[in-house]
Amino acid sequence: MAVRMTVLASGSRGNCTVFSSSCGSILVDAGISCRETLKRMKAADEDPLKLKAIVISHEHGDHVAGAQVLSNKLKVPVYMTEATYDGWRKSTRDAEGKPAKLERREHFRAGHSFSIGDITVNPFTIPHDAADPCGFTFKAEGVKIGVVTDLGYLPYSVKDHLRRCDGLLIESNHDVEMLRNGPYPWMVKQRVMSRVGHLSNSALAEFFQSDYDGSAAFVVLAHLSEENNYPELARQTAYKALGFKPNLFQASVLSIAQQDKPLQPLCLG
Ligand SMILES: [Zn+2]
Ligand SMILES: [Zn+2]
Repeated sequence: MAVRMTVLASGSRGNCTVFSSSCGSILVDAGISCRETLKRMKAADEDPLKLKAIVISHEHGDHVAGAQVLSNKLKVPVYMTEATYDGWRKSTRDAEGKPAKLERREHFRAGHSFSIGDITVNPFTIPHDAADPCGFTFKAEGVKIGVVTDLGYLPYSVKDHLRRCDGLLIESNHDVEMLRNGPYPWMVKQRVMSRVGHLSNSALAEFFQSDYDGSAAFVVLAHLSEENNYPELARQTAYKALGFKPNLFQASVLSIAQQDKPLQPLCLG
C-alpha cells in the first residue's frame, strides 16, 4: 500500500492533515473540532481507528484546538515539544478554570527524530511567533514528505530539510500587496509580514526559483489567507516560479489545500 497524505483542513480557521502508511496513520495538527475531523476523515476514506498519534507543530489554536477531545475520544497520544505544551496550557482552561492537561502526551525535541509505528518524524525549528514552532518531514516506506506552514521566512536550515522530498506541503499565505492594502489593522499586518509571521506567495516563489530541488511528485500550497490571497494567484505565482525549472518539475501535481473541505488524498510509493 502507498503512503498517503490527506489535507483535511488548511488555513487560519484550522489545520489538520492525515499522513498514513500501511501500518497506521498520524494526524499532523488538530486545529478543527473533533467532530469535524472525524467527519472529514470519513469523507476522505481515512479510518480513525488506524490513527496512532497526533503530532502538533505549535500551540496556536488553528493547529491544536481539537487535539484534547480527539486524543481522549480515540485514546491516542498527542506529541508536542514541552514548550509548546506549556504554551498551550497557558491559554487553555479546563471546566474548573485550571490550566488544561493532556492525559496522553509525549514530548519531542526539534532536531531529534522519533518513530510512530513505521513512520519516522523529523521535527525542526521554524521562525514563527509561538513558543517552540516546528516543521516536519515524515518518512515511511522510503517516501519522504515535508510539511511546513506558519513561518515568516525560509531559513537555510529549513530549505535543507526540504531537500529530496517526494511530497511537499508548504505555506503560501498571502500576497504582499493585498496584505498591505487590505483590511487588517497595521499591527496585524506587521505581525504577518515579520520574520516570525507567515510566508508570502513571493517568498515561496523565490524558494522555488532559487533553492528548490524539484524532487516532489506533488506540491500542496497551504495555509492561504482568506483575506489577503486568492487561490488562483497563489497557484499562478508558484507555477510561474516552478516553470523556471521545467526539467525539474514535469510530472508534478500542484494543488491548493482548502479550509472548508478535504483535499483529494495524495498517494506515493
Ligand atoms: Zn496557523
Ligand atoms: Zn501559527
